[in-house]
Order: sequence, then C-alpha cells, then structure tokens
Amino acid sequence: MMEKTAVLEQFDVYGIRKDFPILTRTVNGKPLVYLDNGATTQKPLQVIDAIRHYYTELNSNVHRGVHHLSQLATDAFEVTRHQLKGFINAAHDHEIIITKGTTDSINLVASSFGSAFVKTGDEIIISAMEHHSNIVPWQLLCEDRGAVLRVVPINAAGELDMDAYRALLTDRTKLVAITYVSNSLGTVNPVREIIEAAHANGTPVLLDAAQAIQHIAIDVQALDVDFLAFSGHKMYGPTGVGVLYGKEKWLDAMPPYQGGGEMIKEVTFEKTTYNELPFKFEAGTPNIEAGISLAAAIGYIQDIGMDRIAAYEHGLLEYATARLLEIPGIRLIGTAANKSSVLSFLVDGAHPYDVGVILDKLGVAVRTGHHCTQPLMDWYGIPGTVRASIAMYNTREDIDTLAAGVQKAASMLV
Ligand code: PMP
Repeated sequence: MMEKTAVLEQFDVYGIRKDFPILTRTVNGKPLVYLDNGATTQKPLQVIDAIRHYYTELNSNVHRGVHHLSQLATDAFEVTRHQLKGFINAAHDHEIIITKGTTDSINLVASSFGSAFVKTGDEIIISAMEHHSNIVPWQLLCEDRGAVLRVVPINAAGELDMDAYRALLTDRTKLVAITYVSNSLGTVNPVREIIEAAHANGTPVLLDAAQAIQHIAIDVQALDVDFLAFSGHKMYGPTGVGVLYGKEKWLDAMPPYQGGGEMIKEVTFEKTTYNELPFKFEAGTPNIEAGISLAAAIGYIQDIGMDRIAAYEHGLLEYATARLLEIPGIRLIGTAANKSSVLSFLVDGAHPYDVGVILDKLGVAVRTGHHCTQPLMDWYGIPGTVRASIAMYNTREDIDTLAAGVQKAASMLV
C-alpha cells in the first residue's frame, strides 16, 4: 500500500493538469471533474497549439503539391506516421495507415481483408464484450459472404473464457477480432495468449486498441499482432484521425478499401493501378490538421512515459474502486483480475441515467447507458451502467468528488 501511495504522489498530476486548459472550467457552477475519458480525452495545449500552427503556418494539401507549403504539410503529416511507427514499434512506416479512427480502421479490414480472404462457411471470432464497432462490421461481412460470427463467452467478472475461445478456433476461422481493453468493463484481455492460440491455428488477429493505446505500452512486433486499430481522440489527440496498423504481408495482399485520389498509381478508363503502401489505403484528402497534431499527443505521452502513466492510473483505479465499494448498494460491473481505467457500476434501485444527471449537476462528467456494448449489457441483464473512466490527469480529489456524488445520488434516488 505504501508503494502504491508513493506512485500516486510521485506522478506530477497537478503539473500535467496545467497543460489541459479545459480542466479549469466550471460546469453547473462546480469545478469540472472529467471522468468520461473512455468516450474521449481532453487535449493538452501542445495539441491545441499544433492545430493552430497548422492553420496559421502550413495549411495546404498533402502528398500532391510541389509548392513549399504542400511540402511542409506533407513532411509534418509523415512525421506523425513515423512517430506512430515508433510509438507501437511497427517494423515500417508504411504499415501505419492513417484513418478516421478505430471504427474506420476496423471497417477497412472487414471490407478489404473480408473480400480477399472470407468465403461462404468461413468464421470470424469476436467476443461477448466487443464495442458495436467491432461487431457490426463483421456482421455486415458475414451477411455479404455467407460467413458465420462466433462469440467468445465471458464469466461474471467480465473475463474471457479462454477454453471456449480455443475450442472455437478451427480451420474455418479466418480472423479473430477482439478488444484489448473493454470500454464497458475495463477488462484487460490476455492478448498474448489470444494471438498465440490464433497463430497456432494459422489465423491472424485484429486487436481493437481504442481503450488500450492511452493506458498500456503496446509493441506490435513483440505481440506479433496482425492488425491494431485505435483513435487519436482517446489518446489526448484530435478527433477525426486514427490508425490501422497492419503487417506488411497482409496489407500487401489486401485490395484497396476506397477508391479516389492518392490511392492510385495510374488511372485510365480501361484500368487503374494502385499506389504502394500506405497510400493504397488512404483515398482522398485526409484530416490533415488532425494527422499533424496527433504527433503532439504522442510526444506528450512519450515525454511523461507510458509505464509511469499506467502505474499512476492503476493506483487511481484501485483507490476509486475502494472508495466506491464503501457506498452501500453499489454493484460493480466488471471485476476482472486485470483491469484498466474503467469503473462501471450500478446503484441498487436507481437508474444509471438518473445517477448520471445528479453527478452532472455536481460538475462530474460520467457516461451512462450501454456504452455501445448492447449485447454485453443484455448478457448482464441490465439496461446499462454508470461509467467513470480515468485518464492521467485525474486526481484522488476527482475520485472523492465522484464518490460523494454517487453517495448523494443514492440517498436521493433510493
Ligand atoms: N472500440 C472501443 C473499445 C471503443 O471504446 C470505441 C469508442 N468508444 C470504439 C471502438 C470506437 O472508436 P471511434 O468512435 O473513435 O471510432
């Protein structure tokens, strides 16, 4: 316990908070306590300044103009790609496809990998805790191809049933698509084991890292993962940009996802040839300011250090769990042994929405509802939860305000 308290104290959270201007504002006359980081994180000045810098100094289209500004914008955009490569330890810059976000990245794989490799009777494995973004694209693919979706079940704590997973892997399995961290439960899945078992079966794996990339150091080569999808806006970066990492051998073998400018080598009315990686998968003008300013978010995380962030957030999650469990009538949803940054809960006798409204009156931002995981909520037999999700700038005081608010809501509603 001494050690954990020391981690919380050594981390300069108050210094970090100074970089996030929005954290000083009030909501409903109360200081903002922002605990909806799973939905999106706030942005540091470094990112906000990078967006401003782009529009005041660089604004120009990328990858096409010979003129000075276009070169500068292109170079800055490619700096982000290179930084992303280092951030997740990809083998090559061209394995980093810049997309609109996690949803876009997963749809790209479902569409492109699906059209090349999935046939009637084939199977795709997902899990019971997936976000709709990692369910619906596979359902669309299965409908289109006559393929079958298989779902790995979970236990009451919200952990994957790994024996059931292994039993689902067969020669019909064409892809495993599973979340690294559950956005509703906080479960950190055993991704190494998942990947090893799939590879032993000759099956590639896509990890939805939307809730992992900002909390856990990820090394795609060490994991040997085939595809990794994540969003800029959940890692202190801008909205409208994200990443699909793919192993070169898969990306090379996959057809283009969308047609348009940038993704072509040569177009005639008879036949079009496609550009090389990564541009084959980047049709049209990207979100340039978001792509460029994402580099500032990555730099921000790297300066602090992912391992330090993870240790701090872990200590805060333990503190928050203990504080919430002091409240009579609280039921935690998601009690896996290995968790990250998410606290989903119910107050006995109160609807999650009503708890959320009372917390909002107190300046506390949480998410309520099904969190885009309706099948998971159905499995628990609940309409939804209240979800507090932590970021590196949250403090013990934030958690104390949350706990006091939940206590108040319980006394008003129950
Ligand atoms: N997967 C998970 C686990 C998520 O939490 C989210 C966002 N809530 C997504 C996918 C979708 O991310 P985006 O909306 O940024 O595409």
